Amino acid sequence: MQTSLILIKPDGVQRRLTGRILSRFEEKGLQIVGARFMKIPLELAETHYEAHKERPFYPGLVQYMTSSPVLALALRGKSSIAVIRKMLGATFGSQADPGTIRGDFAISDGYNLVHASDSPEAAEKELGLFFPEGTVDYGMADTPWVYDVESDLG
Ligand code: UDP
Ligand code: MG
Repeated sequence: MQTSLILIKPDGVQRRLTGRILSRFEEKGLQIVGARFMKIPLELAETHYEAHKERPFYPGLVQYMTSSPVLALALRGKSSIAVIRKMLGATFGSQADPGTIRGDFAISDGYNLVHASDSPEAAEKELGLFFPEGTVDYGMADTPWVYDVESDLG
């Protein structure tokens, strides 16, 4: 089992797509283990995207991410980090395949609705930033149906 950090970005909230985006993750079989509606403080946005510090789009990215609230989510499931990245689609909305969240709802390259951790290392760091108190651990009644009964949940 893996846990990933998702942000429904300011454009997702402003465009009233929060529920639809979250529904796609729930429908896939992922479990919500953390949710926090928040305006991201400047310092947190800078730290979250520090890997991009030297890129020309960084100042605009930090401005965008702090311009309006986001819904931060911790989502758990088997191989969830890679599964969720696939569900997002390519970074640029204009290039994301139909059927993906960005492909279906975004045409902008920068305003692409949703962030998701891209590796286990990134997930650990980002979950620590957005959910310092940890996640909410609990069982789901439908687990044997979402994963087959014989499945090794690791
Ligand atoms: N971004 C941008 N211009 C670029 C590349 C990225 O505005 O040329 C923004 C975009 O919002 C993207 C974020 O910076 O989601 C982080 O970029 P990254 O390459 O990590 O893409 P992601 O992991 O979000 O697909
Ligand atoms: Mg990234």
